[in-house]
Amino acid sequence: MSDLNEFLKRNQAFAANIDLARLAMPTSMPERLPLVLTCADPRVEPAGFLGIGTGDAGVLRNTGGRVDGRVIEDIAYLAVRLGVRMDVAIVHHTQCGTGLLADPAFRRSFAARTGGDDTVLAERAVTDPAATVRRDVEKLLADPLMTSEILASVSGHVLRLETGLVETVVESVMPANR
Ligand SMILES: [Zn+2]
Repeated sequence: MSDLNEFLKRNQAFAANIDLARLAMPTSMPERLPLVLTCADPRVEPAGFLGIGTGDAGVLRNTGGRVDGRVIEDIAYLAVRLGVRMDVAIVHHTQCGTGLLADPAFRRSFAARTGGDDTVLAERAVTDPAATVRRDVEKLLADPLMTSEILASVSGHVLRLETGLVETVVESVMPANR
């Protein structure tokens, strides 16, 4: 699938069938909203593996599904803008392409091409998704922007591409009150 025209045709079908009320800004928001943070890998599509539909959840994706400054800002912005508290689910996956960043030779050549920082790139690698997802849950909880007014809870999961199943490795944790 590489033909954008095919996607645009699907959009016509979407527009013809969607209940437009689902695209309107809601007059009242629920107190909490789910938000999924996961990898940009085309195989890791939350609408597919979690069955997320229009209006169900916020979705943020980057390489690896990693927590970084940008993600933290986006979570805070969504919570403040929508007036909700976020239930964040971080999903890392097996066979993640970021695993290549664990290879020093690859990292050096990529850093030389993009001007990226070697330490930052090394930190980005997902070779053991259960370990990195644990680390990212801790990182989110530790961030001073993630007060209990913004973050209702965070949980950590691994999508196993060998089976399609999602395994929970960190049950829902609430931020310390601050
Ligand atoms: Zn990935």
